[in-house]
Amino acid sequence: MASISEFDLIEEYFAGQIVASYGVNLGIGDDCALLTVPQSKQLAVSIDTMIGGVHFPKNADPELIAERAVRVAVSDLAAMGADPLWMTLSLTLPAAESHWLAGFSRGLFKAAEEFNLSLVGGDTTRGPLAVAIQVHGSVDPGQAMLRSQARVGDIIFVTGSLGDGAAALAVIKKELDVGKSAFSYFMSQYYTPRIWIREAHALSEVSRCAIDISDGLLADLGHICKASGVGAVVEAERLPISEPLRKLAEPDAALAWALTGGDDYQICFTVAPQQLQALEELRERHRLDITAIGEIVRGNECVCLSNGRIVECDNLGYKHF
Ligand code: ADP
Ligand code: MG
Repeated sequence: MASISEFDLIEEYFAGQIVASYGVNLGIGDDCALLTVPQSKQLAVSIDTMIGGVHFPKNADPELIAERAVRVAVSDLAAMGADPLWMTLSLTLPAAESHWLAGFSRGLFKAAEEFNLSLVGGDTTRGPLAVAIQVHGSVDPGQAMLRSQARVGDIIFVTGSLGDGAAALAVIKKELDVGKSAFSYFMSQYYTPRIWIREAHALSEVSRCAIDISDGLLADLGHICKASGVGAVVEAERLPISEPLRKLAEPDAALAWALTGGDDYQICFTVAPQQLQALEELRERHRLDITAIGEIVRGNECVCLSNGRIVECDNLGYKHF
């Protein structure tokens, strides 16, 4: 690294700030971290990689790049109903600039504090800008919400609203012109999306099946259908669309983003009919912002109906390749 050694860089920007989470026997500084998994829990592990110029603009604010990277990684823990414990960071940088690193570190630890997640290790290399975050969480054995556990007759729900992530990307790419307040709304939806970690943990009491929506509702619900051997029908009129998105886009465009846009990080989950009363109680107790959007059916197709007719979508979600 040009201006600062790798060792000093780690010391200055990553090793210094401690977020106390459970079971860190040895954190940053040795060849491995040593961690104690909470007794009688399962460890939930997931990694997400974000490439500059692909998953975020290269010149984006480093604080926001870090915040987004942590949030997106934690979203996978939420989708299982797991509680965050630890993370590791693989950071590839074209150059070590202290201003950039200071901002990145600020965003990283801001998000880490929010989710009570300790940074326990990582790797730092020189190359094209890329950020990979691996998160570790804990879950009670048998309690994780799995893609494979949807059953015919289950009701399909989503948290929050759909389509904002895709609209935000269009705003960032300057494909859409918006006023000041809409601009800041969509920027925050993109860089600091709300992650439903506590809510999802509560939902795991009544739901056996969930996924986080990163590639678009139909694509991600399609993963549930495939893994569970079922079909799904969602109703266009029931999809939650935010007020800013309603103002920004025509109904058809908003619907297309809600169905096929990526980057929403809402949780899509299914609930068996006999658990709906328990869900209602949870909804009140935790003031959950959730909407029933459809039903799991026999078959293997995942479709959206509008006034009884299938909505044709030419682009079924974000494709990585
Ligand atoms: P090694 O060569 O044994 O893999 P490194 O010299 O790469 O170790 O890293 C030294 C220590 O600093 C390790 O504990 C590693 O986990 C940590 N580390 C390296 N890069 C980062 C980073 N970007 N964020 C957090 N910890 C890091
Ligand atoms: Mg080593």
